[in-house]
Order: sequence, then structure tokens, then C-alpha cells
Amino acid sequence: MKTYHADERGYYGEFGGAFIPEMLYPNCEELRQNYLRVMAEPSFQEEFRQLLKDYVGRPTPLYFAERLSEKYKTKIYLKREDLCHTGAHKVNNTIGQILMAKKLGKNRIIAETGAGQHGVATATVCALMGIECVVYMGEIDIARQAPNVARMKMLGAEVRPALSGSRTLKDATNEAIRDWINNPVDTHYIIGSVVGPHPYPDMVARFQSVISEEIKWQLKEKEGRENPDYVVACVGGGSNAAGIYYHYLDNPEVGIVAVEAAGKGVKSGESAATSALGKVGIIHGSKTLLMQTDDGQITEPYSISAGLDYPGVGPMHAHLFKSGRGEFISITDDEAMTAGLEISQLEGIIPAIETSHAFAIFDYKKFEPSDIVVINLSGRGDKDLQTYIDYFKL
Ligand SMILES: *Cc1c(COP(=O)(O)O)cnc(C)c1O
Repeated sequence: MKTYHADERGYYGEFGGAFIPEMLYPNCEELRQNYLRVMAEPSFQEEFRQLLKDYVGRPTPLYFAERLSEKYKTKIYLKREDLCHTGAHKVNNTIGQILMAKKLGKNRIIAETGAGQHGVATATVCALMGIECVVYMGEIDIARQAPNVARMKMLGAEVRPALSGSRTLKDATNEAIRDWINNPVDTHYIIGSVVGPHPYPDMVARFQSVISEEIKWQLKEKEGRENPDYVVACVGGGSNAAGIYYHYLDNPEVGIVAVEAAGKGVKSGESAATSALGKVGIIHGSKTLLMQTDDGQITEPYSISAGLDYPGVGPMHAHLFKSGRGEFISITDDEAMTAGLEISQLEGIIPAIETSHAFAIFDYKKFEPSDIVVINLSGRGDKDLQTYIDYFKL
């Protein structure tokens, strides 16, 4: 049977794998050999499910957006990941990985962060478990994202500045990898999206798959069927998208829509529209599509939303794009901001700017009145209030 899931070596079609320096091999290999076994253990599942319920607040509601549906003449449901503890889907993954780290006997956590959202989600679960936490963050990002730096510190994490290169996310990632190479025995590296070397993309997708697992029974209750006609998500690295697609990947009756950040326009030179602009290459240990110069240097991405400001996509998404299984749409800053304002006033929900990109698709794609469209409302907009204020002069 044709599948869009990872194979045993972590490949999605031609994408994925583990392209890592030899010195990182033992770390990744330990994880690769153990992750499926650990995740299948009843004691792991029990603790994971309990924390998702009592700590994260799952299941998150599947909400029928009546006014939005009326406006676009189709049936629109919102999967409310914005109601997760810490305000976004990222905590589903960090909860899973902290439990994985404990099972593997690790007593120290490292992570990389760009805007600080993944750093906060990691610092949160480290506080929960009483485990040491070091978060690498580019010096420029530390200056730009002061509230999230303060959150991480308040949660007890150490924030270490990455001082090399462009002093942003990719440099923080390099520092985290260096740390991991030097601390292979006691340290687990929590990656924040479906990126990085195998087994990370598959492991993170499995942790986030709780999103579509819940949609199946929630939609059955509301509509008498498990399968919507479309699932829609914004894509930075691709973890919230992987979560909402997961249980529908191999079901051709369910359309998959991925929304990327076009920034100031796909052709403006300031964008993060990886499917439109990316070429095959290797980033963070994975073969995928990424934005690069002719001689293979990674291009600095741009988007108004920090969470979509990533120069690649995970290998699952590269394959969904290349194979045609997924439909990819790029949305500009302006279109996303307008959609974010609209959903705020139609439904009383202020979305994260990442999520606002997903809401902008209704101007691009027409749906039938009988279609059921589920949008992943990946996060809440509190963190973006200042950006909304500046943009709309509120
Ligand atoms: C981080 C983030 C994203 C982008 O990350 P993915 O791995 O692509 O999901 C999207 N939405 C929100 C609210 C985020 O915090």
C-alpha cells in the first residue's frame, strides 16, 4: 500500500534520513533504536495520556465556526490547539519528548529556539519534571523576543546566546548540536518540529498525531463521519500540520492543504515559502526542500510570524508537496494579518499570526457548501498582540 508515513530509515519518498556527523551518530542511534519501543510501553502511554489530559488540557475542542462558515459558504471547524497549556500545540511534543528522555535515563535537556515558543514549551516540561534545561537562542533573537526569554528564565531554564553567524535560529541549532555531541550520555535534545535527522520527524509527528486522533472521534460525534473533506494547517517546520494530517495521510478522500508564509511576496526576496522557492538539500541532518543560494548556502527566511520564519520544511511535507498529495498555498504578511483580524471579529478568537496564515486560504480556494473543512488553530494570539497593534495602529 502506498503510504505517506516514514519508512524504517526515516524516509518520506526521497526526503528524510539522517545526514549527521559521525560524532552525533551514537546519540541519534540510541534514540532511533528505542523510540518506537518506548512509545509502545503501556507505562509510557499511560503517563503521556494522563499529562495531556490533566496538564495540557486535552482533548482540545473541535469547534464549529458558524459565522466564518456562513461567510465562506462551507462548513468550517476549528481544532482549538490555542487552548493547550502555554497557548499552542508545541507542548504536545515537549511532553512526549521529556517522557522519552526520562525513559532513556537522561537528566539534562537541551533545545534550540528561534522566537522562543519552543524554548518556553521545553522549559515548561523541564520545570514540570525537575530536569535541568539549557536553551540555545541566537543573540539577535534574544534581543527581539524579550518576553519569551523572561518566561524561560522564570521557568528555571538557562538561556545561552548563540554568538556566531547570523545569530539566529540556525546558529542556535548548531550550538545545540555541539552541546549534544559533547554530552552524549546524560543529555536529550528536544527538537521542536518535524525536522532534524531520523527519528525526530517521525517521533514528533507521532506525538502531535493526538490532534487528528481526536478529530476523528469528535467529528464522528458532530457529523456522523470521521473524515473531513479537507484538513488545513500553517507550516513552519510542519509539526502542527503533521499532527492534523497524521491519521488522514493515507486516506485520499481527505484533502491536505498546507499554508506557507510568503512574507512580503514569494518573489520579493523576503519570504519563507519553502515549497515555492526551495530546492533539495540537507538542513539539520535531514534531506528536504530548503531555501538556498545557487552554491547551497541557506537563505535567511522572512515572515511577519516568527514561527513560520524557517528556511526549510520537514521531510514529510517536502514529500507531500513533491508527490502532489498536499496542496501548498503561500500567504503574504498582509493577507495573514487581515485574516487574523477577520477571525477575531467573526468568532471572538484572536489567533497567533502563524495560524492567521491558514485562515487566509478562503480567498484562494473555493469549497463546496457540503464540504467539511477542519483548520488547525495552532496557537493563540496573545504573544503577537504588539505586532497586531503596530500593524493595525490599534
Ligand atoms: C511554532 C508555531 C507554528 C509553526 O511550527 P510548526 O512546527 O510548523 O507547527 C505554528 N503555529 C504556532 C502557534 C506556533 O507556535
